[in-house]
Amino acid sequence: MKAYLGLYLSIQKSLFECELVLVEILSPLCYPFLMRYAIISDIHSNLEALEAVLAKISGFKVDEILCLGDIVGYNANPNECIDIVRRTGIRCIMGNHDSRASGLEEPDNFTPLAKEAVLWTRDRLSEDNKGFLRKLPRELTIEGFIIFHGSIRDTDCYIIDEKDASDNFHLLENLPCDMKLGFYGHTHVRVALSLQRGKVFLEPDGELKLSTWKRYLINPGSVGQPRDRDPRASFLIYDEFSEKVDFYRTDYDMAATQEKIIEAGLPVELAERLSMGR
Ligand code: ZN
Repeated sequence: MKAYLGLYLSIQKSLFECELVLVEILSPLCYPFLMRYAIISDIHSNLEALEAVLAKISGFKVDEILCLGDIVGYNANPNECIDIVRRTGIRCIMGNHDSRASGLEEPDNFTPLAKEAVLWTRDRLSEDNKGFLRKLPRELTIEGFIIFHGSIRDTDCYIIDEKDASDNFHLLENLPCDMKLGFYGHTHVRVALSLQRGKVFLEPDGELKLSTWKRYLINPGSVGQPRDRDPRASFLIYDEFSEKVDFYRTDYDMAATQEKIIEAGLPVELAERLSMGR
């Protein structure tokens, strides 16, 4: 009896060890590496703001920088901003200004100010950079979350009110892998929205610990033309390991950006609105 028990225990031990080995082999396949991302959006040809944001991000030791669209439009350095995005390997999706500036679509539904700036941009973009913008994907699914520009499945639509948010949470739920988290841009207003028991909530600004029981739609705000009454360039850091999202803002040489807008012959209102953060 004792011998049988010994044999039984040694078989159990071997099976347990096998399981441990299997877990070790399969873990990286089942649980992809947890990453720390910097997420930026709506650069809008503002070179000084982009450089200031990237300088600040360099202090965070991120694994990857993602951009939620609109590299160009409004400000005076479209080629320079695209060159930086390309050179630094920032993964980017297409914004509504990128599609119009590259000639993929016409700016028929743009405001007169946005239309003037986007046509000015189209005239100055290199063919190579236009080609780069045209090839950008409209949205991207990263491990565990999705990034899009305006709203899920529509680059031009905005998430402004509770109904827009609710519709997008519904789309998020119905994506093939039932996403809990989406990052978007387009409004130039930084905000974190959550869905709990079918209701949309506004999360506190600044630092956010993600809960497994909620879904989130999060906007990092704009690098190059913030519209939330704070003129500083805005971005966020998303750390998958600590499950935290931290929002940041940084000052930049706005006077230089404004001067370039005026020198370029772009509408003076575009320079003025930068100081107001709107
Ligand atoms: Zn934009």
